[in-house]
Amino acid sequence: SRKIVIKIGSNVLSDDEGFVNKETLHNIVEQVAGLYREGKQVIIVSSGAGICGVAAINKWSRRGDINYKQALCAIGQVELMNAYKEYFADYELHVGQMLLTREDFGDHIRTLNIRNTLFTLVDEGVIPIINENDSVSVDEIKIGDNDTLGALTANLWNADLLIILSDIDGVFDKNPKDHKDAELIEEVYDIDGLLTEIDSRGTSAFGTGGIVTKIQAARRVNEYGISMLLVNGKKKDILVNAINGTEKGTIFFCQ
Ligand code: ADP
Repeated sequence: SRKIVIKIGSNVLSDDEGFVNKETLHNIVEQVAGLYREGKQVIIVSSGAGICGVAAINKWSRRGDINYKQALCAIGQVELMNAYKEYFADYELHVGQMLLTREDFGDHIRTLNIRNTLFTLVDEGVIPIINENDSVSVDEIKIGDNDTLGALTANLWNADLLIILSDIDGVFDKNPKDHKDAELIEEVYDIDGLLTEIDSRGTSAFGTGGIVTKIQAARRVNEYGISMLLVNGKKKDILVNAINGTEKGTIFFCQ
């Protein structure tokens, strides 16, 4: 695969205390730079603005308050991009930020503009980093989770592969956080079949979508002839190892 969209979940980027895990972020950037040098093109869809916001101002009060949450994302998005910019600079790569909402994918002209901007950034050797525009996203215009945003981006860009980095090794028959005996499902050809076979309840501490939105993302890209790989982004060198097959995950094959 030459064109890869990589979605990075918020749990990948946070440690147990809720702070940004800079080591993991740096390792991901290092791998993306490596892929780039091999001639691959990469677009990143990154969560984690909220966590970065909490880490930056060192408090997380008014938990349930949506405007407060949006404010935290506004603060954290800058921190997040700053980290990406700094780390990619070590590999002489530039980053470009795009903040999108559902409306951007529903409107022909907007979609065309996004597409052109993405292609231009990639052509110029810049790494696009996409996130939902949280500060304008009320429920009505929300995409809601970055798994879906990653899938929409992969389809829009005609990617060859979507890689979702989460904090679990892949799809299991039941939530591996609650069940020690959960078994990893390595290959998926039939998503409807999969959904009847697994228990998919629960998300992690900062997650929004859970496993369900990841499976839906697979369905979306599979329909466009794009395969999806779900792997554990907390493991060192996971991108490289997952692509060359030395590290396990779940691959959703397009028909
Ligand atoms: P992210 O922030 O990476 O998007 P989420 O917390 O939204 O992650 O979703 C991943 C979580 O889904 C896992 O940490 C796990 O607790 C939960 N989960 C529930 N059921 C399953 C399952 N059958 N297989 C894998 N993960 C599951």
